[in-house]
Amino acid sequence: MTWAAQVLTLYPEMFPGPLGHSIAGRALRAGAWSLQAVQIRDYATDTHRSVDDTPAGGGAGMVMRADVLARAVDAVMTPGVPVLAMTPRGEPLTQALVRELAAGPGATLLCGRFEGMDERLFEARPIRPVSIGDSVLSGGETAALVLLDACVRLLPGVMGAAASGDEESFEAGLLEYPHYTRPYEWEGRTIPEVLRSGDHARIAAWRKAKAADDTRLRRPDLIERHGGARGSPPSGARRDNEGE
Ligand code: SAH
Repeated sequence: MTWAAQVLTLYPEMFPGPLGHSIAGRALRAGAWSLQAVQIRDYATDTHRSVDDTPAGGGAGMVMRADVLARAVDAVMTPGVPVLAMTPRGEPLTQALVRELAAGPGATLLCGRFEGMDERLFEARPIRPVSIGDSVLSGGETAALVLLDACVRLLPGVMGAAASGDEESFEAGLLEYPHYTRPYEWEGRTIPEVLRSGDHARIAAWRKAKAADDTRLRRPDLIERHGGARGSPPSGARRDNEGE
């Protein structure tokens, strides 16, 4: 089955962009997913085909009109396919949400520009606002590319047999362990000895401990969020978090 991505944007020429290359590009050409970029301006009705207007209450910039956006969403909406709006005011994108979307039939993504979208759109249509992180982009297109990239690599067959993605960062509420490769010595630094031991149990234990340590150090918020992660990860990597 083809996972169907639709992107509503003022810049359809930005797609597939980076997603036309490497893993996602191959999967696109192989038909594992499809991508339709829709020009929002095609749903404007006035003679100037305007999609935005000045903010109610004053202030800088322009706001995307609810009526135009709703007309575009209504025209492309497919039953069962979630509609997501890219906005810094949305729920943070997580690997859990990515998995949920990748397991479904596809996603329709609405990209903002200017100061954002008229809030009434979110009251009037079942649209899920999603943010890719706590920084402000100039437009929703790069956010949509991020979200689609994350989904597409999880589609069946896309990453090949090796990478089920199960052990990666965030899957168990932890960052992944660090990686090393040849040369063994570089600028006087060597690869941790345990990784050359050939002792798979020791290596697994070291990686588990490293993942827990690094997460605690760099992303205490993840530990907190999964904090008791009662639905404990497959690796049992939680061992080190107990008592926190
Ligand atoms: N004035 C808004 C920012 C608008 S940025 C505010 O302060 O909340 C313009 C567009 O870029 C947004 O409508 C949105 O589609 C996109 N965008 C910016 N940052 C984003 C983020 N962190 N996640 C998802 N989309 C983002």
